[in-house]
Amino acid sequence: MKPIATPKFRRLLPVALALTLAAPLAAAYDFPGCMSGLRAQAAKRGISAATAGKYAAATFTPDLSVLEFLDTQPEFTTPIWDYLAGLVDDERVADGHAMLEQWRDVLQKAEARFGVDPATVVAVWGVESNFGRSLGKRPLLSSLGTLACAGRRQEYFRTEFLDALKIVDEGHISAERLNGSWAGAFGQTQFMPSTFLRLAVDFDGDGKRDLVDSAPDALASTANFLSKGGWRSGETWGFEVTLPAGFDASVAGRRNKQPMSVWITRGLKRADGQPLAADGPQRALLLPAGPQGPAFLVGKNFDVIYGYNAAESYALAIAHLSERLRGGEGFKTPWPTDDPGTSRAERRELQRLLLARGHDIGEPDGMIGTKTRRAIAQEQEVRGRKPDGRAGKWILDALRAQAGGQ
Ligand code: CA
Repeated sequence: MKPIATPKFRRLLPVALALTLAAPLAAAYDFPGCMSGLRAQAAKRGISAATAGKYAAATFTPDLSVLEFLDTQPEFTTPIWDYLAGLVDDERVADGHAMLEQWRDVLQKAEARFGVDPATVVAVWGVESNFGRSLGKRPLLSSLGTLACAGRRQEYFRTEFLDALKIVDEGHISAERLNGSWAGAFGQTQFMPSTFLRLAVDFDGDGKRDLVDSAPDALASTANFLSKGGWRSGETWGFEVTLPAGFDASVAGRRNKQPMSVWITRGLKRADGQPLAADGPQRALLLPAGPQGPAFLVGKNFDVIYGYNAAESYALAIAHLSERLRGGEGFKTPWPTDDPGTSRAERRELQRLLLARGHDIGEPDGMIGTKTRRAIAQEQEVRGRKPDGRAGKWILDALRAQAGGQ
């Protein structure tokens, strides 16, 4: 459940200035009073006084840095081909295959119970938390407690905070292990606490629903989420198609589902060369980069994946990764760009090349942060390219050529 856009972090500001901005904020909110109200609400929900007293204490220390995320607008809008190139790369496909093998029994049992196939469940796992490796580092009760008492979405976050208290109080996950994103998504499935209480399941039979340290619980909870969202067993999410010349793209859109006969009449063909069957369920035409890029006919299961995180690019990443895990290939139609996206391995290589050229960008971890973007922008500028800081194939190739020529 990650946003596609990269947030504009206020850490771009000098630290001292950021502190002076944050300092008056702390005094502007009544945390002791707010926590007192939360303790009363917790009691009504059957949360023990011990748990509430400990984590919703009068002495609660807010983490005001989360408030900055709440109101920041995306600085960079990631092109869909960058987004997909990083999420569905050979590395994640190989890792996904290994996970399918390692957790085969659990995944088969989850499919038998929830009707969702292993490749889809593992694809969600791979995109949400890199198969349990990236869980988020912020203490959840601290983030949610802050957002429950400050900022513009307090009502929403009060519920999430109380639900997180409930999770701790019921002993599913300890407060110390309950870390996540600034907004409260946590664990291998990146559920919000309210989603946890509705949909998390204990699948390893230890009596705890542990989405942090139990892969079986996480995998089955993901399957349960998709199942409750209306997953249709045995039905594909969709497939890539090609459009005839002069196609009227105004009919595209995930909500505009049409009988397959309509799409056949309009001249769509399957990109893999198989015939387009007229009798399937209704589908919608998705053009993530307009009519010049890859086109897809998507059905109900695509919408179910979309329900996990409301972004079509996200749903396409999951769908595509699941397809690759079933042995499928990349898209037939290339993205409409002369500067394609890069895999995580290529991003690390790009960072190593930048380091070799003297840019101070820290460890080459494949994460394109502010320092890497700045270094890329400089290298683009000296080459007469628009300095947008994008970690695309063009700048990688340029730096490779230069390194090879030295
Ligand atoms: Ca368990």
